[in-house]
Parts: sequence; structure tokens; C-alpha cells
Amino acid sequence: MKKITTVCPYCGAGCKMKLVVDNGKILRAEAADGATNQGELCLKGYYGWDFLNDTKLLTPRLTQPLIRREKGGKFEAVSWDEAIRYTAQRLKAIKQQHGARAIMHTGSSRGTGNETNYVMQKFARAVIGNNNVDCCARVCHGPSVAGLQATLGNGAMSNSIGDIENSKCLLIIGYNCADSHPIVARRVLKAKEKGAQIVVCDPRRIETARIADQHLQINNGCNMALVNAFGHVLIEENLYDRDYVAKYTEGFDAYRQQVADYAPETVEQLTGVSAQQIRQAMRTYASAPSATIMWGMGVTQFGQAVDVVKGLASLALLTGNLGRANVGVGPVRGQNNVQGACDMGVLPNEFPGYQSVTDPAVRAKFAAAWGIDAAGMDPDIGYRITEVPHLVHEGKVKAYYIMGEDPLQTEADLSLVRSAFDALEFIVVQDIFMTKTAEQADVILPSTSWGEHGGVFSCADRGFQRFEKAIEPQYNVKRDWEIISLLATELGYPMHYEDNQQIWDEMRELCPLFYGATYEKMGELGHIQWPCTTLDSPGTPYLYQGNQFTTPSGKGQLFATTWRAPAEVPDAAYPLVLCTVREVGHYSCRSMTGNCAALQTLADEPGFVQINPQDAAALGIGDQQLVWVASRRGKVISRANYNERINLGAVYMTYQWWIGACNELTQENLDPISKTPETKYCAVKLEAI
Ligand code: SF4
Repeated sequence: MKKITTVCPYCGAGCKMKLVVDNGKILRAEAADGATNQGELCLKGYYGWDFLNDTKLLTPRLTQPLIRREKGGKFEAVSWDEAIRYTAQRLKAIKQQHGARAIMHTGSSRGTGNETNYVMQKFARAVIGNNNVDCCARVCHGPSVAGLQATLGNGAMSNSIGDIENSKCLLIIGYNCADSHPIVARRVLKAKEKGAQIVVCDPRRIETARIADQHLQINNGCNMALVNAFGHVLIEENLYDRDYVAKYTEGFDAYRQQVADYAPETVEQLTGVSAQQIRQAMRTYASAPSATIMWGMGVTQFGQAVDVVKGLASLALLTGNLGRANVGVGPVRGQNNVQGACDMGVLPNEFPGYQSVTDPAVRAKFAAAWGIDAAGMDPDIGYRITEVPHLVHEGKVKAYYIMGEDPLQTEADLSLVRSAFDALEFIVVQDIFMTKTAEQADVILPSTSWGEHGGVFSCADRGFQRFEKAIEPQYNVKRDWEIISLLATELGYPMHYEDNQQIWDEMRELCPLFYGATYEKMGELGHIQWPCTTLDSPGTPYLYQGNQFTTPSGKGQLFATTWRAPAEVPDAAYPLVLCTVREVGHYSCRSMTGNCAALQTLADEPGFVQINPQDAAALGIGDQQLVWVASRRGKVISRANYNERINLGAVYMTYQWWIGACNELTQENLDPISKTPETKYCAVKLEAI
């Protein structure tokens, strides 16, 4: 029996754990003493591994390469050589006929690791020749990256997960940590125990709201108005830090002018929050000796998400809550390695280490290291995954190479996404399970899973952590980066790596932000937060020390703008707001957690729609009754779940089930900057069955 130290593959909390292994099977998981989890795990950490032992699999594990030679035909098992040769031929032909930009790629924010993401973006940029590489950050925290880069300079959490419990005020907006990051929720609880004031802004009375000192039960879709009102109070009541604003920020006059129209008394009807509550929240936030703002997808999955992120960063700037311990801004990233996928340049606008693809000097540096001609590199920003359905219909994208993502489950407006997949000429899926997306593939390249390989993950607080291989894979599968390397070589770009560390070291040499984060140092320290620019640096627990912002001017950029209503508001035909949410026992598209016995037991029925009993009674819908939920884009069967904590006029569904998939109902309304869809808001109706 042996114990292998690894990192949980589910959420961005980055909990360290030990897998207890005997005779090639995992017996159990134990919590390890990691920087973010301090010896604790949630349910998913303790019970989210047994799909590796091949028990009770609901979704078949992909065990060998498969090719479907004709659309609508059957999959045929083939050798690796044939799968690689066939895929390379098809990609080559599409590139020759339609140009490099006709091919789209995804990296993966899940269990595959940073090294693989580095190799995937290199494949897109050096082998195919475009910047069309993206990841699921696009549909979750893309607005956090864009908004924080614009206001502060770095698109990541400014503080540490460990810091949260030492903050004296937590302003939590659109973030249900008890369900999405239970171990972060523990930090919130500890902060409360240490005397912190907890202020929660959320339409539902979520778990955190129950322990909060103040709960601002905001109407769905009003974040910008509330954040502007917060800024208004800070200025009007002279709660902001004048010296800090004068020394370290820019744009105060325009900001003050913009928020002037958002007096709490003006927006209380719109937001559903009383002026007194809005004022009290800011008095609490501004007077705390240390204050932290945390948010989740209740901020980012809206058509005006980037603006709201900028507004939240502005509250921290106005009050000087940046650049020191126990304060800051914390977008808590969703999937376990979504921070890492961004760090590694699985983004259409940035190489690894957040270096712009439009900068000729940066392109020249990567071209020299990769042995290609800089003049032949794509100088333009590539496509985003949320734009793909439209680009396919416009004839611009013909092939899609998807690694470790399931867009046919997780993207908004699934009928639109399905129609695009039907129109694609060639689909390659590299994954561990026969997901909804894999079912549509022309080629399936089966890869090793978390547990069957090692590497480095980045957790939500910029922390690099190594994870180890626990068991040998049982099937004819290969590591993700090995598959990509074989394809690259077949396409005429020889790519040979010995191991993860060789890839990591190549990446470090090209990324000043990460240069000092060596494998050896990660082994020694366990958790290294970037920037880590030198070999003797231990990393950076909090950003902007000395209030040096990494914006072009070095100053924080204050920002406010006019609130915009969501794209599709309720009306007589579709009178309720649908908001998509998470459930604690499952993760993302549920392909991994749905194949774990204990987690299935916890939540074993496809889908439910949470509704306030008053709304349900008015519709004649009983508790646990089957219902149709319909929007203008589709309808699904679900089960009504009475819940007193739900606000009137809204219903809530998770997107984690194949039946009752709420993305049949959701709509796009992409944020104009980040291109993130508005999956937190669309109009629906419910009908009893
Ligand atoms: Fe920690 Fe998140 Fe894994 Fe739970 S799911 S154990 S909170 S990393």
C-alpha cells in the first residue's frame, strides 16, 4: 500500500490530498496539509476518485482510439498510428483548403495539468499557425481576467485563499462558495469566528447568507447598479481614502461623475435592496481594518460582467484595500486548473505568462524558442469558444480540436451549439469519457485521467502545485501532451518531450512571471504563487505590494459605467428568471463526479428546478412535481424543488445533468469584451406535467 500526494481535480480551491493505493486500485482519499486546505477536503475530494477504479461507470471510459469515417456512421477502433495519421491528414487538408484560421482548439481547465495546456497552445500557434485556442475560462471567469487586467494589471486573485480568514470584512457578491468551493467556505466561516463582518449580496439566501451579518438580497441582473451605488456611498459619505486615491489611482473625477446618478435611494427599487442596507454595507466595508471582495459566476456570467468586475476593483482602490496582507479582490476560479489554463496561454489573445499575441517582440521570442519563422505567426487575436457556433455558420471555422471540454453540455443555447457541430467538417475530441461532445466526434483520442499522470496545477490564488501519478492507466490511452506531440510530429513539426518537467522548464524560460517556479522549489514549498520571477523568490502571496499596479501607467484605474439590463427580461409569456447554479456533490459537466458511487448516491436524479413555494403555488405546481421548463430556445423536463431560500420571480437549475440540461434554455448575450455568455439570466416559464 502506498500514499500518493496529489491535488484535487475539481474546484479551484486546490486542496492537497493523498490517494491511498493498493495493487493498482485506489482505496480512499485522505486530506493533506496544503496551503489552501490545511488538512480538510469536501465531499468531492473525499469521494471523487472511484471512476479511476472503473466501478459503476455511467459514462463509458474512452479506452482506445476511435475513428468515424463518415458523418452519422459508427465509430471504428483503430491503432494509435492510424488515429494520428488520419487526424493529421484531415487537419492538413482543411488548413490547405480553408487556411489555418479554419481550425479551432481548446485547452482544458480540468485534470490534465499546465504542461499539457502549454503544449496545446504551442500546437495551435507553432504547428497549425493561429491563435484560435481557448478554454472554459471564457464561460466563467473571463470577465474577471479582463476586468482586473484593465483596472489593476493582473487578471487574477490579488490575495491568497489562506488570507481570507484573516480579513476583517468579506464582501461576497454572486458567489455561493458553500456549493462551489466548500473549503473556501470554511475560510469564510473561520473569518466569521475570528470576528470578521460578512456582507453577502445574492438573490438567494445561500448558505453564506445565513451566517452573514448583512444579506443584500439583490434582484437578479442588477449588479452594476448596486456596485455603482456602493461607489456613490463611499464618495458621498466621505468613506474613501483620499490620500490613497490621489497617490495610486487615476480616473477619480470621471468615476465620481458616473456614480453620481446611483444614489442608494435611486436604485433601491431596481436592485431590491434598501438604501439603508446599501449604505450600511459600505460603512462596514470601508471602516474595516482589512477588507476583501470575493465573487463568482453571479458576477461573471452576465452580458455586463467585465464592467462589474472593474467596478468591484474600484471599490478596493477607493478604500485602499490592495497591496497588503488580508485584503484584496478575489475572483474564485471555478475548475481546478482554469487559472492554469490561462497562465499557460490557452487564450486567443495571450501567449503563456500573459504576453500579448499582438506584440511583435513577444512573437519573435516565442518563434525563436520554437524554431519557427516569426513572420509566419498569426499576428491577430484568435477566436473565442463562445464565438465558434457563429463562426461555423459563417463558414470561417471548419475543424474543432477539443481537449477535455464538453461544450455540448456546458455552453449556452445548446440548440445553437448543436447546429454548429452538425455543420463542422471535422471534430477531434481528446478526453477520458464518452461525453456529449465526444459522441459527435470524427476522431476520439483517449487520454490518461487525473490519477494516471502527474504535472502542475494552478489553484485560484495563483498557486502552482505539483500533483503526482497514483496508478497506471488500464487502457490503451496516452498522456494528453504525448498525443498532441505525436500529431505535431505527423504534421511536420517534430515535437518530442521526455517528461512534464522538460515542458515546464521550456515554459519557464519563456515566461518571466513564472521563471522562478521550478519543479524543485514546488517540491520543497508545496505552493508557489506567481509572480515568481527569480530562482530565489518564494513567490508572491499578495499582488501590488507598495501599491505598484501593473497597468501601463502603474496606477489603478477607477471605473464605473451605466447599468444595462439583461438581454431577455421576463414578460407575460415567459414570466420567470432562470439562473444557472452549481450543486455541491457534482462538478462541471459531471463526467467525473457522475461516475463516482458515493457522489451519485448524494445526488442521483437528473436535474431539478428550485422555486419559491409561493411562486410554485401560484402556478399550481407541487413540491417534487415533474414540470416542463421552457424558454424561447427550448424546453426540458425537470422536477420542482420547493425552496424558501429562493427569491420570488426566479428559478434556479444546475447545468450538470444530461437530462433537464438547463443550457437548452439559456441564451448568449455575450459580454462585449470577454465574450462570456449571460447564463445567469434568461426568461422562462414552468408548466406542471
Ligand atoms: Fe477542495 Fe474543491 Fe476539491 Fe472540494 S472540490 S476538496 S473544495 S479542491
